[in-house]
Amino acid sequence: MKVDIEKTEQGTKVTLTGRITEDSDFGLMPSKDDAPLVIDMQNVTRINSCGLRFWVIWMNDLGKDTQVTLQNCPQWVVDQINILEGFVGNNTVVESFYVPYYCEDCELSESVFKKQGVDFELNNVDAAIQDWEDQPPKCPQCSGDMDLDAVSSKYFSFLK
Ligand SMILES: [Zn+2]
Repeated sequence: MKVDIEKTEQGTKVTLTGRITEDSDFGLMPSKDDAPLVIDMQNVTRINSCGLRFWVIWMNDLGKDTQVTLQNCPQWVVDQINILEGFVGNNTVVESFYVPYYCEDCELSESVFKKQGVDFELNNVDAAIQDWEDQPPKCPQCSGDMDLDAVSSKYFSFLK
C-alpha cells in the first residue's frame, strides 16, 4: 500500500494505491490531528482480512467523530461500509462511489461513477436510487439496457 499525503483546502488528502494487507504500514496514515481527512480509494486494488482489521483499528484510533470523506469508492469499499461495523466512523461521508451494472446479453460488467452534488444529493437519495434502478445505462457493447448488479436495498444502505 502506497500512501500519498497532501495538504489541501479541504483538509488532508490521502491517496491510497495498491493492496491493503498485513504488510501495509498504517504508521504512514494520517492521524486525528490531521483531520479533516479526504481519502481517495480509487486505486486500492485489493484488501484482505488482515488489511480490513488494520483499517478498522486505524479508523477506531481516529475517533468515531473525526471528519472523514471517502472518494471514488469501488464496489468492494461500498460492500465493506455496508457490512463491516467500524469500517467507517459516525462522521464519514462517501462523496463518490461506483455502482455495478451487468449486461445479461453479452455478460459485460460495468461500474458507473456517482458523485454527491452531481448525481445525487444527501437529502434526495431515495429518488436518485430509484433513477439508478429504473434508468440503467446502455451496454457499451450491445446498447441493451444493463441491470443493476447488486441488491439495491443492501448496496445503497450506506447512503441512508
Ligand atoms: Zn451488452
